[in-house]
Parts: sequence; structure tokens; C-alpha cells
Amino acid sequence: MAPATSRPSAARQSSLRETNLAVLTRTLFASGGGLSRADLAVRTGLTRATVSRLCQELIEAGIVDEHEQDVATGPGRPATPLHPARRTLAGLGFEVNIDYMAGRSLDLAGTVLGEFKVPGSFADSDPAAVLPQLGELAADLVETTRATGARIVGTHLALPGLVDATATTLLFAPNLGWRSVRPMGLLGNRFRALGAEVRVANDAKLQALAAATQGPGGEAKPSTFLYVSGDIGIGSAIIVDGEISGGQHGWAGELGHVSIEPFGPLCHCGSRGCLERYAGKTAVLEVAQLPPTTPSADVLRRLEIGEERVHRAVARAGWALGIAIADALNLLDLSDVVLGTGLAPLVPWLEPSLRRELATRVLAAQFVDISVVGAPEDPCPASTGGALRALQSVISRPAAWIPGD
Ligand SMILES: [Zn+2]
Repeated sequence: MAPATSRPSAARQSSLRETNLAVLTRTLFASGGGLSRADLAVRTGLTRATVSRLCQELIEAGIVDEHEQDVATGPGRPATPLHPARRTLAGLGFEVNIDYMAGRSLDLAGTVLGEFKVPGSFADSDPAAVLPQLGELAADLVETTRATGARIVGTHLALPGLVDATATTLLFAPNLGWRSVRPMGLLGNRFRALGAEVRVANDAKLQALAAATQGPGGEAKPSTFLYVSGDIGIGSAIIVDGEISGGQHGWAGELGHVSIEPFGPLCHCGSRGCLERYAGKTAVLEVAQLPPTTPSADVLRRLEIGEERVHRAVARAGWALGIAIADALNLLDLSDVVLGTGLAPLVPWLEPSLRRELATRVLAAQFVDISVVGAPEDPCPASTGGALRALQSVISRPAAWIPGD
């Protein structure tokens, strides 16, 4: 019989190995790849022997790739650079927005294995009609991904609303007009038969994750910021050290429903004077006296040629954003703001009125530079964020993806 002490000791060994595997993947992925085993030993403080043994496991599991020897390290045998693996494991992200649905599949190296984006009109729509359409496109993307040889490690569906703690149910999406929707049951038999389990998430949070991430496992700068996106609705998320800060129920960041004027115009959420009634696309087009279907590119063109009404409408949006963002910065002690989706290209025109409000209203504005920048361009950032979140589960816990573990 084994001595009584062997079991805890074996457990300690196994947990040490799991921790070391995670340290190695995090270090390699954060660097963007190209490190040798010797580099990893220096950066992680692990011995060369441990690094070699664990890297072999990561290579066999399809998490890390060994490339040709292309790093010259002076005299002696050249080092073999290691990289995030291509086409082995993939994360999937899908999204339904007010005017499009999209999906994207990424591998651990950040390569897009497949994607789609289809325009639509989903305001006040029926989820039982919309989600089967998404299910068909999603099934195509699953098949395209698997055809590359990649195994799917996770699937996230981004929706513009509040999601329950189990990530299975959308509680309320005001602009879609959806309440208590369990998407997995509505994506259709073809998608369900493929066996990809879908987790539901708030769209702005996944967009923010995409803005905080430079490729799978890589951290972008800034890594702590307030993210605000804007199309028909205004979404928001708080990112601290590259991670979403969700609040008590995971719902933090509903900046779109912060009051600008308590007796202002009625909002889809049932309240009055919410930020999105001033800075959302519908509100901006109304003030600009343009039809509600005016494409964003047309708004930009009118701004560039100096059309007065459009300038006024966007400046008013900047004013409202400034008030709401100043409240958030005062409350959360953040000094970096990233504006995403439809707000990103408007930054040069939003900035003057927005900054005026920040300068007046943020108490700490005299002691810290407040940065306001546009998020990197991405046609479907919530899908990218969903795929990245799925891949993050491999990077942070690689042992779970090593066969036999
Ligand atoms: Zn509202």
C-alpha cells in the first residue's frame, strides 16, 4: 500500500506541472511567439530541463508549434523558436447586432480560419426567426473550421443585452426587443448536431476584450480602460489588466442607460434621457435631419465636407458621451477611454465637446492625462472577442487540453 503522504504529494506535483504549463503558454503567447526554450527558461525562471519537457507536451497537444531553426544565438547549436500553433485548436465567436449578424473563427496564432457578416434588420425582431438564420451560418463556419483540421475549443455568442450568470440565457436586449431567450435551443438542428456548445455574452464586453488583446494571449495597450461602443445602442465595458470587470452580476458597463437628462426622451429600456437617446446612431441621425437608414459612411462623408447639421448632431453626441464618461471615470478611477464600433471613426468630431465635459466634470482631470482613442478597426469585434475568449481558456489552462490529462 502506498504511504499516506504520497497522494497529496502527487497532487502537488500535478498542480505544479499545471501551473508551469500555464506560465509557459502565457509567456510565449504574450511575447507573440518566436522564443526558444532557453528564452522561456530565462523569462519564467524554470529549469531548461523542465521547459524542454513541458514544451514537448505543448507541441504534442497542438498548442505550440516548433518552427525551423531561424534564430541565430551566437556560437553553438541554433535555438529553435516556438510559436502559438496554427490550425490545431480554434475559438469561435458569433454576434447578432441591430443591423447585421456575423461570426469569426480564429486559431491560436490569431489566423482567421473563416468568417461571415450578413446585413439585416433585427430591431424589435423575433429571436425564433433570427436565430435559426444565424444557426445555418454558424454551422457553415463550424464545418469550414473543422475542414482546416482545427478542433473547436469554445463558442461565444455576443448579444446587445444583459446575460444571466450561466451564460445560457439572454435576459433582455432592449434594441432587439428580446427577453428571456435561450439561443442554444433556437439555432436549429443542423447546428446542434455539430456539438458546439454556445455560451452567451454581452457584445460590448467581448468587443472590449478584442480591444484589450493583441492576438490570442497578447495584451494590448492600454490594458486598463473604459470601453464605449456605439451604433443604435451604446454599450460599454470596464477592462482592468486585460480582464473584463463585470460587477456583482456581470452586468457592469451599461453606460448607454446612464441618465443625461432625467426627463429626456423615452428610451427602449423604459427609462428617460438615457445616453443612447443622445449618442446612439438613431438620435444622431434625427438631430442631423437624416433618414434613419443613412449609412455610417455617408455620415462620415458629410462630416468631412463640413455639413453644419451633421457637425452639430455629432457634437451633441460628444457632449452627452462626455457627461456619461466623466461620471464613469469619477466612479471607477480610470483615465483611458477606448471608443469602439460606430464611435471609433467619429473620434475627431466627437472629441472637442467630449473633452470639454471631461475637463470640467472629472475631478482628477487636473492630475492625470485622460486619453480618448478609437479602437482598432474590426468589422465584427464582438465575434473576434468571443473567439479570443474561447482561446484564452486554452492559454490560461493548457493542461486541460493535453490528451491524457
Ligand atoms: Zn435606456
